[in-house]
Amino acid sequence: MDYDCIIIGGGPAGLTAAIYASRARLKTLLIESISIPCQAITTDHIENYPGFPEGINGFELIEKFKKQAEKFGAKFIAGEVKGIKENKPGWTIETDDKPYTSRAVIIASGARPKRLGIPGEDKFRGRGVSYCGTCDGALFKNKEVVVAGGGDTALEEAIFLTRFAKKVTVIHRRSALRGTKILQERAFANKKIEFIWDAVISEILGEAKVSAVKVKNVKTGAEKDLLCDGVFIFVGYTPNTAFLKDLLPLDQSGYIIADDNCLTSKVGIFACGDCRKKLLRQVVTAAGEGATAAFACQHFLETQTT
Ligand code: NAP
Repeated sequence: MDYDCIIIGGGPAGLTAAIYASRARLKTLLIESISIPCQAITTDHIENYPGFPEGINGFELIEKFKKQAEKFGAKFIAGEVKGIKENKPGWTIETDDKPYTSRAVIIASGARPKRLGIPGEDKFRGRGVSYCGTCDGALFKNKEVVVAGGGDTALEEAIFLTRFAKKVTVIHRRSALRGTKILQERAFANKKIEFIWDAVISEILGEAKVSAVKVKNVKTGAEKDLLCDGVFIFVGYTPNTAFLKDLLPLDQSGYIIADDNCLTSKVGIFACGDCRKKLLRQVVTAAGEGATAAFACQHFLETQTT
């Protein structure tokens, strides 16, 4: 076997697992996706991760996690995992480049933003349609943008976008927000943010780039065009687990079913972080589960050799 432990995913869960596994002297490889960056890295300001009372930029926090894992000897490669096959006494991890073998696997592949699935969304992606304020917000200086969604991400990103845009219109399908009260208070107090309630974006319009959205009232069915330069979509997440569908039980949304100790139904495969079925998806919970998964993995490998 090439490794004792291969970790799939380079977000807070995978990196914490890498810190714990390599510190436990397991020969550890972490495979991180280039095409799907971890969500924390694209978060401008994380203010609820303990130890940083002033908050911290997501990229900076993830760099710190990575440096710590490297310090203990974890190896990193960039790659897309295509599948995992049983290869007794361990597993073969197939990637877009080459296969790697490992005695145990920790899956920390995270989740990616959901699409609305409306006309114009694909056509204007990168030409006004975005799923990341931190990445693209600066492109909309003094412009008008709309935000789809009413959860924490939509509110946090709407507030962030007011740094650049002259107006941010949040379009939410209900008349009450899902996001936490503190973010609601900040969004309501922000003079650049307006809300359109009980409405969805039914189409994204433009020529070379976005120029407007069609807004549909879900109660009356009435539609009207709203001029805008950008459309930011924050309507939840989809787990990055398609490569596991024939291997592990997933719930109906595709989240991995694992127990409190991060054990999946396959002996030697562990799951942690946002890809796992659970109540709360935060950097702090991902990090905690990464530690649990690595500890469970270490325990499993020790019992395997004795
Ligand atoms: P979320 O909580 O699932 O909210 C998704 C929002 O999008 C909801 O308001 C939902 O409407 C709306 N939505 C879903 N599908 C839609 C569709 N097809 N068309 C229009 N609207 C649609 O997702 P999230 O805001 O990304 O948050 C995900 C998790 O991360 C949550 O647990 C959240 O608390 C956490 N998070 C925490 C922080 C923080 O603590 N600072 C920051 C970001 C995220 P409904 O309300 O009607 O369902």
